[in-house]
Amino acid sequence: MAFRNLGIKEEVIKVIEEENFEKPFEIQEKAIPFVLDGKDVIAQAATGSGKTLAFGAGIIHICKREEKIQALVLVPTRELAEQVAGSMKKFSKYNFLKTTVVYGGVGMAAQIKNLKNADIVVGTPGRILDYITRRIIDLKFLKVLVLDESDRMLDMGFIRDVERIIKACPINRQTLMFSATISPEITHLAKKYMINPMKVSVESYVDPSNLRQFFYDVNEREKFSLLAHLLKNEDSELTMVFCATRRRVDIIAKKLDSQGIDILAIHGGFPQNRRLRIMEEFQNKKIRILVCTDVAARGLDIKGVSHVYNYDIPNESKDYIHRIGRTARAGEKGKAISLVSNRDGKNFENILRNPKLSIKKETLPEFERLSIETKVHDSHRKSVGRRNFRRERSIYGGRVNFGRRKGRFNRSYGNHNRDKRTLGRKYDSGRRDNWKRR
Ligand code: AMP
Repeated sequence: MAFRNLGIKEEVIKVIEEENFEKPFEIQEKAIPFVLDGKDVIAQAATGSGKTLAFGAGIIHICKREEKIQALVLVPTRELAEQVAGSMKKFSKYNFLKTTVVYGGVGMAAQIKNLKNADIVVGTPGRILDYITRRIIDLKFLKVLVLDESDRMLDMGFIRDVERIIKACPINRQTLMFSATISPEITHLAKKYMINPMKVSVESYVDPSNLRQFFYDVNEREKFSLLAHLLKNEDSELTMVFCATRRRVDIIAKKLDSQGIDILAIHGGFPQNRRLRIMEEFQNKKIRILVCTDVAARGLDIKGVSHVYNYDIPNESKDYIHRIGRTARAGEKGKAISLVSNRDGKNFENILRNPKLSIKKETLPEFERLSIETKVHDSHRKSVGRRNFRRERSIYGGRVNFGRRKGRFNRSYGNHNRDKRTLGRKYDSGRRDNWKRR
């Protein structure tokens, strides 16, 4: 099947040719005919399946350059908002539609200015609802509403915001819902707000012949040593190391750095600008290892991820699937490696229960047992010197602002008075010097 046979507009075909997309992905082949036909669609498709083009082609099909919001795409995270908006801009460049992106955590002025003449809006539910309430966003001309990564939006507690946004949309709109998993909540939402939706699904967007999934049965105390060994010895391109919590990311990042392994770290606790910069550095392959929480796995299309490590095992197979979906994309090879200790046993059993997943046990390699603590305690943090703070700066892509955030910084390291008298000033100047050097 060729793209032209799906009925996609010629201007979009031109972009597809420029992008060298040879033939439609399964989700595109299945969903685009319904989407172009104006039907409501529920599509079970995960990141990397090519779903952006599946709904993008539909949006471009019925929207005109009118400087009125005709399409709204709701996504769970800011990173995904940027990514989807980028794709929409690309796909609609010969139709001259204006796409704008809105999400929280950044200033409103520029977003409000851009919204004035936008045809397509991509954003996260909180900020979109905020603009609707303030009457900055008017949805009366809306033709298409897309709920992207719907399962994630619900998992993240956006259900009420999403419902309020849906209610602000005209009734005679087209609704397209994309979700990696179709849970009862998703079905309920669809029943409530969609009209005779067509259902399409793709089996798996990861080509099993390209993805090797295996696990190591490892002692919790030796987990870090094994990770460090694998990171040093595996022949890899880009690597993502998933941890369960922000705190785990902080600790593992610090420990890897202390082993001389160049890494970046990201989690939802970082300010938005820093998160964007870190992802950019990772995508540009400046530093090839990213230690992260699941936030980074949500919907992002990062090219060239050859290895995914589950340092902590997620408790649901859908999170595991989201994670491994970062690798073996677009015909490339990938490895998903889980480090399973007795602490992860129960979670891992859940994952193994999924009949679609085939994860093989691998024999432990010979590796050096590193004698470093498994936990970095706050008391330890208090005693580390300036050298290590600099180092922390490099871990996180050089974005720790010691000057302005002095108060917060002191609080988190629990050494308020000493820092106030001496360290604060030192960091201030240190930061500026470092900043210049970069
Ligand atoms: P998405 O799931 O929309 O994030 O798309 C995942 C990646 O696949 C993106 O980098 C797209 O540019 C790419 N892509 C989408 N459709 C195709 C296609 N038909 N052929 C090749 N690559 C594609």
